[in-house]
Amino acid sequence: MAVEGVIELGLDDEELSTCVACGLCLPHCPTFRVTGEEGLSPRGRIDAMRNVQWRGASVDDTFVHFVETCVQCRGCEPACPSGVPFGRLMEGTRTALAAERRTAPRWLRGGLGALGRHRLLLAGSTLLALAQRMRLVPKRAGLAPLPVRRGPAVRSTGTDVWLYTGCVMDAWMRPTHRATAALIARMGFTFAVPGREGACCGALHTHAGLAPQARRLAERVIRSMPGDAPVLVNSAGCGAAMKDYGHLVGTPEAHAFAARVRDIHEWLAEHLDRLPLSPSGDGVGPVIVQDPCHLRHVQRAHGAVLAVVGHVADVVELDDEGLCCGAGGAYATLQPGLAGEIRDRKVAAIERAAERSGATVVVSANPGCMLHLAGAGLVVRHPIDVLAEVLLP
Ligand code: SF4
Ligand code: SF4
Repeated sequence: MAVEGVIELGLDDEELSTCVACGLCLPHCPTFRVTGEEGLSPRGRIDAMRNVQWRGASVDDTFVHFVETCVQCRGCEPACPSGVPFGRLMEGTRTALAAERRTAPRWLRGGLGALGRHRLLLAGSTLLALAQRMRLVPKRAGLAPLPVRRGPAVRSTGTDVWLYTGCVMDAWMRPTHRATAALIARMGFTFAVPGREGACCGALHTHAGLAPQARRLAERVIRSMPGDAPVLVNSAGCGAAMKDYGHLVGTPEAHAFAARVRDIHEWLAEHLDRLPLSPSGDGVGPVIVQDPCHLRHVQRAHGAVLAVVGHVADVVELDDEGLCCGAGGAYATLQPGLAGEIRDRKVAAIERAAERSGATVVVSANPGCMLHLAGAGLVVRHPIDVLAEVLLP
């Protein structure tokens, strides 16, 4: 018989036992940095998970708060000498809580449900953009101005590589897809884009603990891009999720698919010799690079962005060791206070970088980070847009 308040987290005991409570992760945790609260640190969250899983503690509001305030940036993972797979523990915990309806409110489930229906998403996105123009969307929603027009969709030209177009990225940042496609073509490769089945990778569903929905979307995405060609992704969050399909779906096909996924910058860095040179011979001067967590901490591929941006610019790195910007999927909407405080630190780091380098351009390879930082008044561009502007004027 189920005991009230007791929820089986179903975490791997060995993974849960890996933490030795050394605290080396604490300075890398954005929520601990802004609050100083142990419960809002990786160590504190792991201890709370152990209390529930090992000692039968009930899932009360405090536990839910510890879980919901985690940005899932995974900045704690590379800092951890014991190799604690924190992202997996947090995703498992969220999945257990969402299954019991303790997290992921109904409006969020409804919104995420629309992401896999691309035409509906495009129509809804246009309406939202119009509502913004008419000042019907409150500023506290924290949304950057969305495009009313997005221009033509990218069309397949061949089969050398797949270019993943996704949901929000295609609705809000389609010019970046066109720039990516133009670069691939200029380098002498053809590309295919997935059909409607590949409309959403499920990254935001995994974040929210909606694993069954994420799994269904992942299976569709895998079917949408058959064969052996590399799957190129220009959104860090989507790429991180797709590289984890082997774990999420658990089939040999999913593992094989995940091995084909490359962040676009990883692929470009491997083919730097095929990138054209700037026709004018000029670069763009200093450019500040903001590392999205899912590129730096999860995919560990931020070095590729530096190499690619360095092809056309003087790279300026931030001095905050990749601390999260607070975007975190739907986090900025669900936890606006904390997300704002975390963003303030990132903005300060960007301002310091601008002051010491004179750079006026900031790039970030994840739509969530770009929009979240734009909400603070910064102009942030995708690295591919800057590259295409210089190389394909
Ligand atoms: S998660 Fe890793 S770094 Fe953090 S306290 Fe545990 S063992 Fe130490
Ligand atoms: S994932 Fe990010 S916010 Fe969550 S505990 Fe780790 S460092 Fe902190």
